[in-house]
Amino acid sequence: MRILVAEDEKRIASFISRGLKEEHYSVDVVEEGESAAHLGSETPYDLVILDIMLPGKDGISVCRELRDKNIDVPILILTARDSVKDKIRGLDAGADDYLTKPFSFDEFLARVRSLLRRKKSGKKTVLEAGDLKLDQLAHKVWRNGREIPLTGKEYALLEYLMLNAGQVVTRTMLSEHVWNEDFDSFTNVIDVYVNHLRNKIDKGFKKELIHTLRGTGYILKTS
Ligand code: CA
Repeated sequence: MRILVAEDEKRIASFISRGLKEEHYSVDVVEEGESAAHLGSETPYDLVILDIMLPGKDGISVCRELRDKNIDVPILILTARDSVKDKIRGLDAGADDYLTKPFSFDEFLARVRSLLRRKKSGKKTVLEAGDLKLDQLAHKVWRNGREIPLTGKEYALLEYLMLNAGQVVTRTMLSEHVWNEDFDSFTNVIDVYVNHLRNKIDKGFKKELIHTLRGTGYILKTS
């Protein structure tokens, strides 16, 4: 799950992004509207969080711009004033929900979860690859009926591999979707995590699901 946060108040931006990362979401933070509109149109985010008062372009304009481009990502608006007008403007511009500052992190997180859930409703939320099963809502994984506990990063990695089952997943794709924008893809972090994941998912099973394509990346396949 990859989230874009547009917030120019450093304290709030870091509070939000730290918290989301602890919950194992991948987070990109921008401080002004132009970058939010640009990144939001170019990158397939699962959720976009927009502060209204942003330098350059305000959050409501960014929201409208994304909707005009037919980008149907869930959008959460943050507003500093408890003004009904702002909320209506936000919702009219195509936002899905709004939150008034200051807010508690728990409430913020509940909104985030609800928006991500709404995005998924109607779509399949249990992914399967052979005897491997992943529940995207419960964040749980089973192989051959037995639950396999994974860390947040391992889970995110496996989810991405399963969403792209049968296709080559490069390290760049993983660094962009499972990690975030400022991740250095030249480190061997990805390989280390894939090995951890492989030890949990494949070790002791007859059939290996995660395969390495030397120099390219990985592929999850059942045949
Ligand atoms: Ca602001």
